[in-house]
Amino acid sequence: MLIDTHCHIHDLDTFKFALSRQPVSQKFLKKNPDFPHELADFDPDKILARAVKNGVEQVICVGTSHQDSLRARDFAAKHPGTVFWSYGIHPDEAESDEASDALFSSEFANETPVAIGEVGLDYRAGAPRPGVTARAAQIKLFEAMLDLAIKHDLPLIFHVRDAFDDFFAILNNFKDVTGVVHSFSDTPANLKKSLGRGFYIGVNGLATFADIPLPPTDRLLLETDAPFLTPKPFRGTINEAARIKDICAYISRVKGVSEQEMAQTTTENAKKLFRLQHPIV
Ligand SMILES: [Zn+2]
Repeated sequence: MLIDTHCHIHDLDTFKFALSRQPVSQKFLKKNPDFPHELADFDPDKILARAVKNGVEQVICVGTSHQDSLRARDFAAKHPGTVFWSYGIHPDEAESDEASDALFSSEFANETPVAIGEVGLDYRAGAPRPGVTARAAQIKLFEAMLDLAIKHDLPLIFHVRDAFDDFFAILNNFKDVTGVVHSFSDTPANLKKSLGRGFYIGVNGLATFADIPLPPTDRLLLETDAPFLTPKPFRGTINEAARIKDICAYISRVKGVSEQEMAQTTTENAKKLFRLQHPIV
């Protein structure tokens, strides 16, 4: 079995945004006319059904704001044992969203997420989403989310772009946290440091078309980040959770291990970090 440890399939608006930025290429559609390409094709239940058909038995829907986390929670509630969710406020939202334990506790007392994320720091110039915020606001939000994770004994899903020095400095004050550095795309030195902190590393379609250092398999989590970062050979289409199968195949080839072994090890890693239960039969 396979697990997509990071996707945004619970929110049709995210797919609308992805389609508006990059519609499915006509060239691809000519050869594959039945391929998902219209907004209606990306209904969360349809995406989930296609994922399951492709051997993806569990997915984690990752929250990027308070409201978005509520949507992830509601989608997970519809598919117990198959869809899990995380609560997070993305650094891009640092100036527009509020993080407070009171808010968290009032909404989520009885429905615990499997992680706090995606949270972290994004210092990229010209990030694609609006509202790229001042560093101070990002740091304040990140620290609040770290406190939340510790208080509720949850692992974290980190989003870190061009900000690893501050990331590691802040973590010096939060020694015992566990988590995954999602969509890692930085230097081998920062990969080594992340591993040194005991973190898992999230690998997605980026690795199929960009030169990215890979972690050892026993610390690797497979993710799609759907609808973004479509892997080869599906570039020019909208990414979805079913593509975990293709990412697994690609990484297995690079690592020289069987797809079965890659699937098994990364699934065990995900279950261990997020304490996922087996699907309820
Ligand atoms: Zn994401």
